[in-house]
Amino acid sequence: IALVATMSACGSSQKTGGGGGDVASTGTSGALVGVTMPTKSSERWIHDGENVKSQLEKLGYKVDLQYAENDIPTQVNQIENQITKGARLLIVASIDGTAITTQLQQAADNKIPVIAYDRLIRNSPNVDYYTTFDNFKVGVQQATSLLVGLKVKNADGTEGTEQGPFNVELFAGSPDDNNATFFFNGAMSVLKPYIDKGVLKVKSDQTDFKTVAILRWDPATAQKRMEDILTKTYTGGDKVDGVLSPYDGLSIGILSALKSNGYGTSGQPYPIVTGQDAELASAKSIMAGEQYATIFKDTRDLAEVTVKMADTVLKGGKPEVNNTTDYDNGSKVVPSYLLEPVIVYKDNLQKALVDTGYYTAAQLGG
Ligand code: BGC
Repeated sequence: IALVATMSACGSSQKTGGGGGDVASTGTSGALVGVTMPTKSSERWIHDGENVKSQLEKLGYKVDLQYAENDIPTQVNQIENQITKGARLLIVASIDGTAITTQLQQAADNKIPVIAYDRLIRNSPNVDYYTTFDNFKVGVQQATSLLVGLKVKNADGTEGTEQGPFNVELFAGSPDDNNATFFFNGAMSVLKPYIDKGVLKVKSDQTDFKTVAILRWDPATAQKRMEDILTKTYTGGDKVDGVLSPYDGLSIGILSALKSNGYGTSGQPYPIVTGQDAELASAKSIMAGEQYATIFKDTRDLAEVTVKMADTVLKGGKPEVNNTTDYDNGSKVVPSYLLEPVIVYKDNLQKALVDTGYYTAAQLGG
């Protein structure tokens, strides 16, 4: 820490040991911004990283972009390194939202502002801003897409024709990711009344967040859990009608478990499976009539608001926020900018993902 203090106080350029280049200490031109993303194993974070980096570079910043492959100590080191290299601002999409408190204190001691990107950083006063999508609404939309697929609801929000009972199973994201609870709570705010009325039945009886959460959003863990549920609970000819899945990677794992248990044929179609992120494999799966829906969060927009915010902060201004109530990180309510997620079904996929240029028709298979 002493070294960091000396380096940032000395005001001259410094050797970074690779990647960062020289660090300007005054003005913002050429200033270094540290960007840390959780993993490259999911496409969305690759897009996020690239978008943030290129947009910052366009404004004249230098960018140190790091991925940690979901390993917490690696991310901790990356943030420490960025502080040592003289980063003037940090943009962090955390793996475990509670594991970087020490590093954030170090950042604060060096007057380095921190923007939490997509995932809230918890238990630290040293988080200046948060940019994300409306995470509770994502969960509401996931549950809505499940009900629309089951025809319990219509896409316009009115009640549908079906009354069930339908067998559904629930999945949630990683318990150390603050978003996972928001998604699950949002989804349950919609599903619970239907579970209570008996329209939906969770045959495994696994309904609480801790039981259904999938550590580190790992697709193989979700696949295994779905397989276990199928072999233990769906033995007497009962079928799964719907699966609440909070992320496309998990949905792909869940669909493979279903496939190896005889689903996905004309006699036994796949249940309604939800998702999130509009990843390419899932967009294709939706076109093929396998996964039912996903939630599209345009990472280009998230990068744009984050970069704008970073630039404003670095220039000494006050960035625009649109939520100052919902994201209490256990230490303070973090001023946030929330974007709007969109449900993507097969019938609006072209409009949402191709017409907006997120994917080309060729990427989706023509
Ligand atoms: C993000 C989701 C993503 C999940 C898994 C969450 O924090 O908000 O978009 O599906 O992490 O990567």
